[in-house]
Amino acid sequence: MSRPAPSCLIRNIGTFVTGDYARPVRGADSIYIEDGLIREVGSGISRAADVVIDAGGITAIPGLIDSHSHPTIGEFTPAQNAQSWVTHYMHGGVTALISAGELHMPGLPTPPDARTAMALAHLAKRCWDNLRPSGVKVYAGTLLLVPGLVEDDFAALEAVGSRLVKFIFYDYSLLPSGEAERYVTWSRKRGIKVKIHSGGVSRSGVSQVAGIDIVKRLRPDIVGHATGGPIPMPEKEVERLVAETECALEICSSGNPRMVLKLMRAVGTSNAFDRVLIGTDTPGGTGVLPRGMLREIAYLSSVADVPPEIAIAMATGNVGRAHALPQGVLDVGRPADIVLLDRIKGSVASDALDSFGKGDLPGISAVLIDGELRVGGRSQQTPPPERQVTITGSHA
Ligand SMILES: [Zn+2]
Repeated sequence: MSRPAPSCLIRNIGTFVTGDYARPVRGADSIYIEDGLIREVGSGISRAADVVIDAGGITAIPGLIDSHSHPTIGEFTPAQNAQSWVTHYMHGGVTALISAGELHMPGLPTPPDARTAMALAHLAKRCWDNLRPSGVKVYAGTLLLVPGLVEDDFAALEAVGSRLVKFIFYDYSLLPSGEAERYVTWSRKRGIKVKIHSGGVSRSGVSQVAGIDIVKRLRPDIVGHATGGPIPMPEKEVERLVAETECALEICSSGNPRMVLKLMRAVGTSNAFDRVLIGTDTPGGTGVLPRGMLREIAYLSSVADVPPEIAIAMATGNVGRAHALPQGVLDVGRPADIVLLDRIKGSVASDALDSFGKGDLPGISAVLIDGELRVGGRSQQTPPPERQVTITGSHA
């Protein structure tokens, strides 16, 4: 790892949003950070620190974790021939990205054969292990599951630290062989999470259609873009995902906004808010969306009637828990990935949470990743927040 991060004290936080759906707001106004971890949370903490951030009464939330992203190599995305997208997302409050497969690699045969899929996962893992654009944590090396993999492949994935595998190109007419279920077993045995591309065909044109029956048969950990990416499974099947499976359910910016309302009604009925994850499913045909996560939180809060602090948990703590990551919740011992934000001047909202509730984006004033300031003052991707943080001390 890099040099030790300076110690940091954030004080004068107005609203403390935890990212934990069970306790989404906490009566605290200060966070003390050392060695990249949150060491103390409380009110009126006055410890000496290398960097002191006066939040000026604005809102703190955990750094956003995009549950469904498509990195390729570095900050270039061939999907839109665009550069620097990871840094742009960071300015939209994203501090971690989870790869749903590095399938935009130019020239990649789709579907890849098993050896090519393994080689791609290894290459992507190695690339992102050695690259942290603007400090953003990119969890890549997500194996695209195709016929012909053996258990040693899953052991090799575990050895390099890959965390996720994904059904997207797997030919489900082969299901009677039991191979796909074995993939799930081999993954689970090693703590590797299983995601499935759900719904209709993707931009690749060769992804496999997967509805409720395939999901119930394979029992993945996470139903990728359950409300469409871009095409959802039929409405009745989306609703059945909630009651008839225990899978985490992703809502992605690439999907069908009407289906989000259907899913959320079923989620409300079953009180399954802990199972909902927010991602963008970008870069891709939907574009490069630096403010995509903020927009999904605002949509869920303002149109689907999810309390904003719960919608934030769906974009932070829920994603971290579903993928067995340490971050996503602001608490002692957790990585200090933190975003400070407030209402934008001219908005009818009173603060950041009220902004989301009214469908407005808030503006970002600060982003910390592992306790290091990556944005300090204002974001390059949101309008400026009405109140901005004040920073003193030896920050870079
Ligand atoms: Zn995707």
